[in-house]
Amino acid sequence: MEDCVFCTIASGAFGTEFLYEDDRVVAFDDLHPQAPIHVLVVPKRHFDTIADGVPAEVLASMVAAAKAVAEKTGIASTGFRCIMNTGSDAGQTVQHLHMHILGGASFGEGLLARN
Ligand code: 5GP
Ligand code: ZN
Repeated sequence: MEDCVFCTIASGAFGTEFLYEDDRVVAFDDLHPQAPIHVLVVPKRHFDTIADGVPAEVLASMVAAAKAVAEKTGIASTGFRCIMNTGSDAGQTVQHLHMHILGGASFGEGLLARN
């Protein structure tokens, strides 16, 4: 989609370093990390949100990417959180489906609130 920053990043046009890539998704560091490890998993095809008719194989690739990123960044054994913000109440700021992978610190039992 034109004028979509994550479409542009996922196309490789910015030369972003990918921690994971397959036919359907890429993973790269968040620009403003909220944890020691903060990676975004982004489908190459544009979807607005998780509620945008996302095919099962894309979701499967997103989960595979989460596992691969956790192993690569050394947080697979200590644990990590996966978040997909959807809509304004959830604080979604980029309207291209993405999953946050956060780790390297203990988040406890609370919701991961951002201010
Ligand atoms: P949201 O609030 O939509 O769930 O998360 C969007 C995330 O994308 C934010 O954590 C923000 O820091 C990140 N972000 C926004 N623009 C860029 C960008 O151009 N490059 C990267 N790597 N991350 C971005
Ligand atoms: Zn997009």
